[in-house]
Amino acid sequence: MCQIVVVFDFDRTIIDGDSDNWVVTQMGLTPLFQQLISTMPWNSLMVCIEPLQNRMMEELHLQEKTIEDIAQCLKQMPLDSHIISAVKAAHSMGCDVRLISDANQFFIETILKQHQLLDYFTEIITNPTQLAPLTDSFSPEVTQQYFVKPFNLQSLTEVIVVLPLIDSSIVKGMILERIQAKADENGKKTFIYLGDGGGDYCPSLRLGRDDHVMPRKGFPLWDRIQSNPSLVQAKIHEWSSAEQLERILIPLISGVPIDGSKPNCTSRASSLTDSSVQNNIISTVE
Ligand SMILES: [Mg+2]
Repeated sequence: MCQIVVVFDFDRTIIDGDSDNWVVTQMGLTPLFQQLISTMPWNSLMVCIEPLQNRMMEELHLQEKTIEDIAQCLKQMPLDSHIISAVKAAHSMGCDVRLISDANQFFIETILKQHQLLDYFTEIITNPTQLAPLTDSFSPEVTQQYFVKPFNLQSLTEVIVVLPLIDSSIVKGMILERIQAKADENGKKTFIYLGDGGGDYCPSLRLGRDDHVMPRKGFPLWDRIQSNPSLVQAKIHEWSSAEQLERILIPLISGVPIDGSKPNCTSRASSLTDSSVQNNIISTVE
């Protein structure tokens, strides 16, 4: 096992698009959600703190969509072959591969399983989903419904904090900090963090000088880093396509030594100008 922890975001990083948006679009909810989006933030439609249900799942239920219908929809979501090979390569090179996402357990598990990728992640931290029987079903076909529950930081902090992982930069940062502390118990680890969103900024700030952040070019994380790169200690390696992600990530892993000597990778300044498991744990902390 090498001393590298690779942490992926999910939406617009592992998958090119957004899993919530995919389900809304593919299952014909776009007109309704376009109407709703004008009155509340997108993520508020996806996860509610109280009661433990969310609008998207509710609407799918009202349209008599079964869980299997939703799963079938998720299984159609494309996942680039370069991402698949990058994750598998990182795993085979001995990296501890993890995922932190503000999507949800059911969506992520279904998509990763479809592409035989689930078992390559040591841990997936996301909003948990709970299967519950329906007593008010409109159809004999629809007997159960998934609820997306907000992620609970109880196991990560001494203070109980219940928050959806909604673009929550601070929450993701706290989660990464916890992973860092745990990982470093057995010797200092090098982290490589890949993401695209504003929620990935706080985790990026928590990386050290020997770590690496890979922001997706043109997306909010990249924008924020670009606005003041000196705030980020980690080396920065931007990417645009899945092919590019793989081409940057694998040499990066190869270049990080296991003996604590200086990593053989580009400096922050040059990379900016270059532009260039087995125990699968879904952390459904409640
Ligand atoms: Mg994302």
